[in-house]
Amino acid sequence: MTKMVYMFDEGNSEMKEILGGKGANLAEMTNIGLPVPYGFTISSQACNDYYNSGKRIQEEVESEILEALARLEKATGKKLGGTVNPLLVSVRSGSVFSMPGMMDTVLNLGMNDQTVEAIAHLTDNPRFAYDSYRRFIQMFSNVVLEIDVFYFEQHLEKRREAKGYHSDPEMTAEDWKEIISDYKGIVKKHIRQEFPQDPLEQLFLAIHAVFDSWNNQRAIVYRQLNKIPGHYGTAVNIQSMVFGNMGNDSGTGVAFTRNPSTGEALLYGEYLINAQGEDVVAGIRTPHPIETLQKDMPEVFSQFVEVCNRLEHHYRDMQDIEFTVEHGELFILQTRNGKRTAQAAIRIAVEMVKEGVLTQREAIGRVEPEQLNQLLHRRIDDKYQKNILAKGLPASPGAATGKVVFDPDEAEQLHIEGVKVILVRSETTPDDIHGIIASQGVVTSRGGMTSHAAVVARGMGKSCICGCEALKIDMQQQQFQVGDTVVKHLETITIDGGTGEIIVGEIPMIDPELSDEFGLLLSWADQERTIDVRANADNPEDAKKAVEFGAEGIGLCRTEHMFMEADRVPIVQQMILAETEEERKRALDFLLPMQESDFEGIFQAMQGLPVTIRLLDPPLHEFLPDKEHLAVEVAKMQILEPDSPQLADKEKLLKRVRQLHESNPMLGHRGCRLGIIYPEIYQMQATAIFNTAAALESKGITVKPEIMIPLVGHVNELKIMRQLVNDTAVAVQNKTGIPIEYTIGTMIEVPRAALTANEIAAEADFFSFGTNDLTQTTFGYSRDDAEAKFLKDYIENKILPDNPFAVLDQSGVGALMKTGIQLGKQTRPQLKTGICGEHGGEKTSIEFCCLQGLDYVSCSPYRVPLARLAAAQAAVKNELQKRKLSIN
Ligand code: PEP
Ligand code: MG
Repeated sequence: MTKMVYMFDEGNSEMKEILGGKGANLAEMTNIGLPVPYGFTISSQACNDYYNSGKRIQEEVESEILEALARLEKATGKKLGGTVNPLLVSVRSGSVFSMPGMMDTVLNLGMNDQTVEAIAHLTDNPRFAYDSYRRFIQMFSNVVLEIDVFYFEQHLEKRREAKGYHSDPEMTAEDWKEIISDYKGIVKKHIRQEFPQDPLEQLFLAIHAVFDSWNNQRAIVYRQLNKIPGHYGTAVNIQSMVFGNMGNDSGTGVAFTRNPSTGEALLYGEYLINAQGEDVVAGIRTPHPIETLQKDMPEVFSQFVEVCNRLEHHYRDMQDIEFTVEHGELFILQTRNGKRTAQAAIRIAVEMVKEGVLTQREAIGRVEPEQLNQLLHRRIDDKYQKNILAKGLPASPGAATGKVVFDPDEAEQLHIEGVKVILVRSETTPDDIHGIIASQGVVTSRGGMTSHAAVVARGMGKSCICGCEALKIDMQQQQFQVGDTVVKHLETITIDGGTGEIIVGEIPMIDPELSDEFGLLLSWADQERTIDVRANADNPEDAKKAVEFGAEGIGLCRTEHMFMEADRVPIVQQMILAETEEERKRALDFLLPMQESDFEGIFQAMQGLPVTIRLLDPPLHEFLPDKEHLAVEVAKMQILEPDSPQLADKEKLLKRVRQLHESNPMLGHRGCRLGIIYPEIYQMQATAIFNTAAALESKGITVKPEIMIPLVGHVNELKIMRQLVNDTAVAVQNKTGIPIEYTIGTMIEVPRAALTANEIAAEADFFSFGTNDLTQTTFGYSRDDAEAKFLKDYIENKILPDNPFAVLDQSGVGALMKTGIQLGKQTRPQLKTGICGEHGGEKTSIEFCCLQGLDYVSCSPYRVPLARLAAAQAAVKNELQKRKLSIN
């Protein structure tokens, strides 16, 4: 039978799949001789077996647990439930991926009416013993017996007040004894049974509860958000307890070996004196910064710094370390690769290369491409005179504006309604995760940089300010107050998680720029990648941004966006309403210089890099008013203003709108079908491109236009359009006398185009896979309908693994791409290929494109850095795989 339980000295850091991250690292630390309290780990396989056998712990596993417990007892010289030297343990979850705070933990297990006496006697500290026992009852009752902590806390608060105390440290041993007796009463009232006294029963109940917590609501939400599959299960770590609450020579804390927000190479953390485990992360008391530990406990501090350095070097990554000090003795309870912001990830990766710890290639793999979005967000404009209301800890950078809400459920509801909100809480708990997801940012009045809100927000790249103690939150009144200023529910505030500033109202923000370190990392990425990165841009500003972010060309310039500008719509409408070709040409003559000025700005911004310009794609009705609105307007005018001179125009417009109405415009008169029926539209667009190119060439500015025909399904469509563009080029060249180099290609966005790519390639210099439409036409889904109606259900019910409009469906849409490339290159071996659908900016889709040998991916300018990094990671992975294959 497979081994299911491992003592800490039987595992190592390679065994994360079996022992979970926490268990594997506890084993590794034990093996390298760090002061880790001894214990054992029940494997995640046991969790899966537990679920597979109807939530039952198998007999074999049970006996392995008992055997491990005996070994733990022998090693520590303590006994679970012993009345002389009792063993107390912690029971903690730990899956292969870190899911901070999402699953359950029980501390001080083994406490009962007898062992508490023994502990009191052994430590000569009854106050500590009874405090620990009441903590255990509270935690066990909450996690295992599912009794809300509220009942215990409310009771404790009442008793504290009755005694005239302000805080827990004022409670005496006798006070705790009374509280314990009351707590037992609360338990009995809720579960109609006594609080379990048998430590073995406590242990197995706790193991059950931890297994169960793998599937609690917040863990499920966290897994969905972070794309962690549900089949991993959680391991359970059982570790002998050490106590940070034994007096003022004890304490507990969490520290990162570098700053997780900025990446600065300085120890960064917090601790509390005379406190236990969860107190720091739970954010209930605001802890002290780690630097002051040097003063409080100088020896412990220097030992801790040494451990931190050792762990960082051992794992070759920034570590997030939990520690406890018991009577001046340091214990390490956990280490893991620390979660960090994108900014920190970049700085740490770059600095670790400079320190000789990582190679450039390894550094590229240390930054998650999707995380870069955080950096490419706007921030508060420093030039703006800010009226700062309050300042908290800058827990997760980025600025956000939104309406104040205090309740996570409300945050979620308003988010669904499209309202931007900022969640303000005294502290957050894992149960608030849905509200954090729905908010633009989070503010808490308590808790430090390692509190739950901070960790979760950083993981999501959300702006977060913690420990803003100036904020007096009044949940009853639904408002918060800072000094004399009251901010009410739904009032707008702006927060900057990079500075910790809170400002009333909305503040102007500025565009992001690449830092030097970011630029350096991307330059390393550029050395590795095998695919070009272009941008989708249709105006000079976006083109400039694209170049600034390192785009090597424009892969898609959607010309319809130029038709949609407010001052142009009336002319476009005239063009659509024209009844004769002459009339249409007249309107197009007005549009021509406008298109030329757009192209000029774009060509100039691109400084000689290739620009793929797609001729008009959407159906014409998109430029006309809504049919129903117009019909109502006309009907009203016919009754109320029958003599209005505008009525005839409106009626004409309505007639044309009705003519152009399509049942399924996605498959209707659009793309090259427009160019075939109204050649003068494409002619005007090609003329504008060539005129501009000639004008710029004559000024010595190189221009590389690539003219792209959309939605081709049959080679004949492309043949006709190619002829039209070529004829237009000749006409312009004859007029200007300036030869222009250009190419003509097509989008591959309907299955027939991919399946007949050998024929189409005869007329195309390049293919660009329009995977937005190709996904629609391959699945037979219209994107808007699918996303609005059923796609969410499909994903939740695992009918589809992902939204195929975001993540390329490699086996369907990807198969058509493969066919398209292969057939296209049969006819034209030098055929240039790219992708310009949304997928061009998504990590896994980029990897697929690299593997298929595409020449470029094209995505929005703000995703260009992400695509550069993802392309480099794909190239490195690909090469490593090839090397592995050749070795085998
Ligand atoms: C596409 O279909 O993938 C594409 C890029 O074109 P659009 O999204 O403009 O239809
Ligand atoms: Mg398209």
